[in-house]
Amino acid sequence: MNSRLYGNLIFELSKEGRKGYSLPRNNYGSYEIPASMRRAEEAALPECDELTVVRHYTNLSNNNFGVDTGFYPLGSCTMKYNPKINEEMAAQPQFQNLHPLQPEHTVVGARALVILLEKSLCALTGLAHFTFKPYAGAHGELTGLMVIDNYHRSRGDMARKKVIVPDSAHGTNPASAAVCGLEIVEVKSLANGQVDFEDLQRIVAEQGAEIAAMMMTNPNTLGLFETRIPEIAKLIHDCGGLMYYDGANLNPMLGACRPGDMGFDVMHINLHKTFSTPHGGGGPGSGPVGVREGLQEHFPFVSPYHGNFGVMMRAYAYILSLGRDQVKMVGPLATLNANYIKESLKDVYELPIDTTCCHEFVFDGLKDKSTGVTTMDIAKRLLDYGYHAPTIYFPLLFHESLMIEPTENESKETLDGFITVMRQIAEEAKADPELVKSAPHTTPIGRVDDVLAAKHPVTTYKQLRNEQN
Ligand SMILES: *Cc1c(COP(=O)(O)O)cnc(C)c1O
Repeated sequence: MNSRLYGNLIFELSKEGRKGYSLPRNNYGSYEIPASMRRAEEAALPECDELTVVRHYTNLSNNNFGVDTGFYPLGSCTMKYNPKINEEMAAQPQFQNLHPLQPEHTVVGARALVILLEKSLCALTGLAHFTFKPYAGAHGELTGLMVIDNYHRSRGDMARKKVIVPDSAHGTNPASAAVCGLEIVEVKSLANGQVDFEDLQRIVAEQGAEIAAMMMTNPNTLGLFETRIPEIAKLIHDCGGLMYYDGANLNPMLGACRPGDMGFDVMHINLHKTFSTPHGGGGPGSGPVGVREGLQEHFPFVSPYHGNFGVMMRAYAYILSLGRDQVKMVGPLATLNANYIKESLKDVYELPIDTTCCHEFVFDGLKDKSTGVTTMDIAKRLLDYGYHAPTIYFPLLFHESLMIEPTENESKETLDGFITVMRQIAEEAKADPELVKSAPHTTPIGRVDDVLAAKHPVTTYKQLRNEQN
């Protein structure tokens, strides 16, 4: 891209008086906006011809990394291919132009879709009812915990104000519990990555009467299947608590097993993860909450409408296009792909828990620690080779976490290409560590100051014209 010609900012391309449009002759007289409602000066908008605008934005879009341009093994996020049929379905004007306040008899099709999607999710999870109001996974967690809180209070059980959360949990779990006004009790993980059942027994023995729920994700945030769920569920149920399933990792379970059958009472699903909606950059999302029979009367009021309808349409299109038999392949294929990468790289990358994983797994940086090359360096170097980085420095259980999730969609050739590059980077780290430590070398922007960018984002353009005045 010629950044000088097409500019980093559209304002830099502006030439006074240049236009990309011409309006038709006005045959209908004119209307002046009252002076009191007009701005004193003209807005400093960029003035460009159409072709310059098209090239500027097309070039900008090419600077973005997306799952449509390359492999995106971002663990914990399930960045899977989003089939174009989903987009076509969601873009149908009959659905896209719906208004939430339309009379009910004009939205029968949309309502049918909600009901059919609910039925599909019930069949896939083993739960009885879903609400689609939550706008994301974290919103679903809060909604689900409110269900649990409402349930205990409806029984007059006011003492249950504690939620058990594993130390490996996603940060949103304790955050949602806190927002819900509940106290967090952390349960430890064992060296094998699973919940420490003895520690859990101790917590329940000491605080059982105050436990509202236990939150778990299975497979957990290390991509490991928690094998003691039936015992854990019994322990929590026996003390009067409920089991909450964080469904962000439902992907590898599809067709293999169901949270409802494992003993979970309430769960959320991240439709944008497991059921394919583009969600890079934070949205849009949908976090429907499912409950077992009887708990649906405790659904709280968290939003007035049926959540992000477009995400629901994409999810339903994904489920329908896979169909009953193919949907059973999702989990096993995601699991196969992750294990294939793990086994192909574990001789050069540190695998702290060497066991069969589900859809994702975590390396703890390079095996050879003498090179000084960090997980951050590896992530940056991957960009030079055209790959999005895996999730880095999460989970927090290891210092150099590198969390890889390929998803079910990727071909063996793509996985082999990634494996080759990861091995190449390990070689470079040995032969020429500076090459990796100074990466990326081919992207328009090198390393940014993440903290500064997050804490002091500059999101507006200082208007030159105003500056000159
Ligand atoms: C992504 C994720 C969440 C939060 O979901 P959002 O849709 O991003 O709000 C919660 N738990 C786990 C394990 C996740 O991976």
